[in-house]
Amino acid sequence: MTTYSNHIKSQEVEKAARDYLEKRGVSVTSIAEIVYQMQKPYNEMLTLEECIDSVDRVLEKREIQHAILVGVELDVLAEQGKLSEPLQSLVAQDEGLFGVDETIALGAALGYGSISVTTFGHLDKAKVGIIEKLDTKNSGQCHTFLDDIVGSIAANASSRIAHRERDIEDGMSKRDIERRDIEARF
Ligand code: MG
Repeated sequence: MTTYSNHIKSQEVEKAARDYLEKRGVSVTSIAEIVYQMQKPYNEMLTLEECIDSVDRVLEKREIQHAILVGVELDVLAEQGKLSEPLQSLVAQDEGLFGVDETIALGAALGYGSISVTTFGHLDKAKVGIIEKLDTKNSGQCHTFLDDIVGSIAANASSRIAHRERDIEDGMSKRDIERRDIEARF
């Protein structure tokens, strides 16, 4: 039987994932700006602060943290030329038919339902905000995985806002809304 006495603490994993984003030039606010663009047409009262809070809540999810850790690690190793061929070239060149970056990010978007999945698909095509910057291949950095992961985080935070808004509209108490958020943790 597996014992978890030496497991890595959740707080350490979350801190590492947030540090990875920051080191690779992705702030919480830059992701929140995408969320704002995605949800503002459906919610006139939406503020950037709410979007920042939603991104923060999504970053508390282990599935997301793990996707960040795996994706950024592969980007950095490709940047340093440390992967084996042919994976090194596939990742470094962001080869068009290499779809594992999207698969990991899409997997991390599944926990937030269909709005998250469709928003992720839209962001993958439209390259909104910082995603476009990450997708630009002449930066000298490799963001093959990170651009999709950022899309996934933004899509999750957008879906979370859409569902919360409905709960608020339906007169659900703050306590119940928060409880649902906590229970949705995975
Ligand atoms: Mg990519």
